[in-house]
Parts: sequence; structure tokens; C-alpha cells
Amino acid sequence: MRYLDPHIHCFSRTTDDYENMYLAGCRAVVEPSFWLGQPRTTAGTFRDYFNSILDFERARAADFGISHRCTIGLNPKESNDERLAAEVLEMLPEFMGRESVVAVGELGFDDITDAEERSLRAQIAMATEHNLPILVHTPHRDKHRGAILLMDILEDMGVDPNNAIIDHSTEETTKSILDRGFWAGHTVYPQTKLTPPRFANIFNEFGIERMLLNTSADWGKSDPLLVPKTLTHLEMRGADPAVLQKLVWDNPIQFFGKERMALPENGEPFDPVAANATHSSLRKDFV
Ligand SMILES: [Zn+2]
Repeated sequence: MRYLDPHIHCFSRTTDDYENMYLAGCRAVVEPSFWLGQPRTTAGTFRDYFNSILDFERARAADFGISHRCTIGLNPKESNDERLAAEVLEMLPEFMGRESVVAVGELGFDDITDAEERSLRAQIAMATEHNLPILVHTPHRDKHRGAILLMDILEDMGVDPNNAIIDHSTEETTKSILDRGFWAGHTVYPQTKLTPPRFANIFNEFGIERMLLNTSADWGKSDPLLVPKTLTHLEMRGADPAVLQKLVWDNPIQFFGKERMALPENGEPFDPVAANATHSSLRKDFV
């Protein structure tokens, strides 16, 4: 079964991960821009990071047969450094029209501060202006309150709920997200967030409409293969493979838009021998 991981931070992963993902059926990913762990001190480092996920990661993934697209945004945590945030917000529109950009994100709340809300609202306005969908991160603490508040703000700003993912949803939040017409993203993690059995319970209760499954694999303890591992678990519990195929391929493409995703008809031209021989994505300018 082929799949698309709609939330993974490939920037923090190795080429071995790309290779293993390809072997497990991954043919496309969406990489949201995010917090890198070390707080950034100058706006220029955001520019370099955005260019890395727009260009270098796209080429590196393609070498392993995977189409790479991304979402651009200022993450909620770093929105609290207001001087830096102002400079980054000013820079963002120039990236929104770039090829590969399929949404604005990840936006949302970390500590639910006023600065976070200002940055969120500014970026929702940009998404509307550039006709892009929105990927919203829900906080780890106070998740239910955070999700409700985020949906209130999106509605207040006139966003069509069909154009926004409320991500990292759990048993606590899926029902209220779907009831309000938004897409519910589900992140399966080895320990925290959801495990495959917990996601299976949600799947059995809510089905697949406006549902997404991702790994959010990053520099922390996470597993880039948890989408196919979860699918195996669901199949063992009797799920119909045709339904699962919709969940992990058709659904994310429907959300981000077929035209925006612009996936090559027969996948990226993948030559495993060449990919391994080059050791990494050695584009001409790096040789
Ligand atoms: Zn993320």
C-alpha cells in the first residue's frame, strides 16, 4: 500500500529513514516548518531553514523516490520572541508562492500567550490572502482548551473549516474537531501522543472522513515508520485495506489539493543504486 505522511520533519531525519520509508510504501510527504529545538536568534536563520526544506529536502527525498512538499510558517513557540517574530512575519509572504508550498503552518499555540495569538492571526490572514490551507498544531498541555480556542479564532477570521487541519488530535479532541467541520490530524508516536492501538480505537469510532494520520517524526523520540506500522495494526484488527488506502493517500491529497501537490503520475524516478552511490543528495552545486 502506498502512503503519504502529511506531517514529518525530514530535516531532522537521515537518508536511511527516507530509504526505509520508501520500502514501506511512502511515496510522498509534507514537511511543516517547525521549532528546531535551539531558539533562533536572527531572522536570517529562518530564511536559510525555509530554503532548506523547499530545495534541499525536496531533492534529497526525490533521490529516494519520495515527493516532498512543505508548509511555511512561524511556529507558535518562537512567536513569543516578538522582535524576531516581526521580522519573520515580514519575510513569510515571499515564500508563500514558492513551488512545493502546500499550506501555511504549523501555526497554533504552545503556551497560549497573547504574542502567540497575534502571530497566529497574522498568518491566518496571509493564508487567506494567498489562498493556502492551514496546518494547526495543538498544544501538548491543555490540549482541549487550546483546540477549542484555535477553532474559535479560525472561525472568527472566516476560515472555511474544510481548509484547516487541527493536528495532534487525541481522544480528547477528535469529536469536537470533526463536529465543527475541520480536518483532524492524528500523530502516532512511540510513547507520547497516540499509539497505534489508541489510534485504532479512534478510527473505529469516527471512520476516515476528514481524518489524517501522520508521524510528526522529528529530532525527538519518534518513528518515521509509524504510519505503515499503524496500518498493519489496523489490518490485524480487521480494517478494509481499501479504506486504509483512502486514509493515507486520498485524504491528504484531497486536503492539500491535487493541483497544489502536483505529484508526478508515476512517482519520483527512483534509482536505488544511484541513490546509494551518491551517499546523499549530491546536487550539482554541492559537488
Ligand atoms: Zn510538527
